Amino acid sequence: MTDTVDFLIIGGGVVGLTVALEIRKRHRRAVIRVLEKEDQVGAHASGRNSGVLHAGFYYTPDSLKAQLTRDGCAAWTEYHEEFRLPIRRCGKLVVTQQETELRGLRQLFERGQTNDVELEWISAEAAREIEPRVRTVESAIWSPSTASVDPGTLMTHLGERCEQELIQVCTGTAFVDRRAEAVVTTAGSVDPGYVINAAGLHADRVARSYGFGSRYRVVPFRGAYLYGNNSEQLQTHIYPVPDSRFAFLGVHFTVTPSGGVKIGPTAMPGLWREHYGGLGGFVAGDAVEVATEVGRLLVRGGQPFRRHALSEVRKLSRHHLVGLAGQLAEDIDPSDYTDWGRPGIRAQLVDRISGQMVDDFVLEGDNESMHILNAVSPAFTCALPFAAVVADRIESAP
Ligand SMILES: Cc1cc2nc3c(=O)[nH]c(=O)nc-3n(C[C@H](O)[C@H](O)[C@H](O)COP(=O)(O)OP(=O)(O)OC[C@H]3O[C@@H](n4cnc5c(N)ncnc54)[C@H](O)[C@@H]3O)c2cc1C
Repeated sequence: MTDTVDFLIIGGGVVGLTVALEIRKRHRRAVIRVLEKEDQVGAHASGRNSGVLHAGFYYTPDSLKAQLTRDGCAAWTEYHEEFRLPIRRCGKLVVTQQETELRGLRQLFERGQTNDVELEWISAEAAREIEPRVRTVESAIWSPSTASVDPGTLMTHLGERCEQELIQVCTGTAFVDRRAEAVVTTAGSVDPGYVINAAGLHADRVARSYGFGSRYRVVPFRGAYLYGNNSEQLQTHIYPVPDSRFAFLGVHFTVTPSGGVKIGPTAMPGLWREHYGGLGGFVAGDAVEVATEVGRLLVRGGQPFRRHALSEVRKLSRHHLVGLAGQLAEDIDPSDYTDWGRPGIRAQLVDRISGQMVDDFVLEGDNESMHILNAVSPAFTCALPFAAVVADRIESAP
C-alpha cells in the first residue's frame, strides 16, 4: 500500500527538522513527513557535536557558510533565549602559539571583517583579562558572539516542535530506495510529493538514487573530546589559528553550557560510515568504499596531507592531545582530562574529480527532489537560515 504526502524529508538531524519547520511556515496545510532511521531524532552528528555556535569568521566570503554562520549564530542565540534552552554566551579567543602565526591570525580577523562578524583584535594582556590562563604571543582575536549550547537538548526540543506543528516524525523508519515515483521505506511505500534529502552520512547515496551527486562520496571523520573533571574551569572557548589548507579547526578548548571544559576534537577517518567504536554499525561495502576514498585522499593530497594525517593519529594519545591543548592555556594537568566522552562523525564530502575535500555546503536538485550534501560544520550553527535557503531553492527549482 502506498500513502501520500506533500513533502518527504529524509533524515531527522538538525538540517532535516529545521527544513521541515521552515516548510511548515510556508505551507500551513501540507502533509509533511520526516523519515528517521534511528529510534530518536539527532542520533548522529546533530546530537553528538561540540555545540559551538560559530560566529562566522573562518569561511571565505563567497561561500554559503560565510553568509549563513553569522546569521545562524544570532538566530539560535535568540531562539535559545526565547525557548529558555541552555546557552552559555562565553565568547571565543583565537590565540597564536608562535610569532609566525600572527599573519594567519590577521588574515582570520580581516576575513571576519569582510564577513561582517563582530570581532576585536586585542593584546595578550587584554586576552588574559578575559581568561587569566590563556597563552598567546602578542595578540589574539576576541569573538564575543561565539556561544555554546547543548545539542541533545536542542534536538529533543526540535522533535517536539515538529510534532506540535503537525509534522509527522517517523523514527525507526528508513529510506530504502526510490522506485519509479514512489519511495520505498522500511515501513512500506510512500508517494512522496517533493523529496528533501538531509541524510547526513548517507546523503550522497540517497542523492545518487535520484541521479544527483554522482561526483561525490562521503568520507566519515570521527571526532572525540576529552572531558575535564568538575574542578576544571575556563571563562571562554580557546582556539588556535587553524591551518587553512585543512578542513578542521585544530585542537581547542570548548566550554559547555553547564560550565564544563573539553579538549579536542580528533579528526580520524572512520573505517565505515557509522564507525563510532568497536564493530558497531559495520557494513562491509562501506568499509571498502571508505578505504578507497581515504587512499585516494592520501595519494592526491600529497606530502602536506600525509603529514597532517599522521599528526591526527598522534592525537589519539590522551597525553599528546592534552599537551597540544596546554599550548593554549596554562596549568593544564593531564590527570584532569581522563574521560573521552561520546564521539561524533563528520560527513565530509570528497569530490572524486578534483580529489579534494569539499569546503562549502552543496545543494543539488530539481522540481522533484533537493539533496543537501556536505552539511559539515558549522551546519548546526547555520541550520535556521540554511533551512530558508533550502526552501527558497525548492521554490525556484527548474
Ligand atoms: C565532532 C563534531 C563536532 C562538531 N561541532 C560542531 C559545532 O561545534 N558547531 C557546528 O555548527 N557544527 C558542528 N559540527 C557539525 C554539525 O554537527 C553538522 O554539520 C550537523 O549536525 C549536520 O546535520 P545533519 O542534519 O545534516 O546531519 P545528521 O545529524 O547526521 O542527520 C542526518 C540524519 O539522517 C538519518 N538518516 C541517514 N540515512 C537515512 C535513511 N536512509 N533513512 C532515514 N534516515 C536516515 C540519520 O540517522 C541522521 O539522524 C560538528 C560535527 C561533529 C561530528
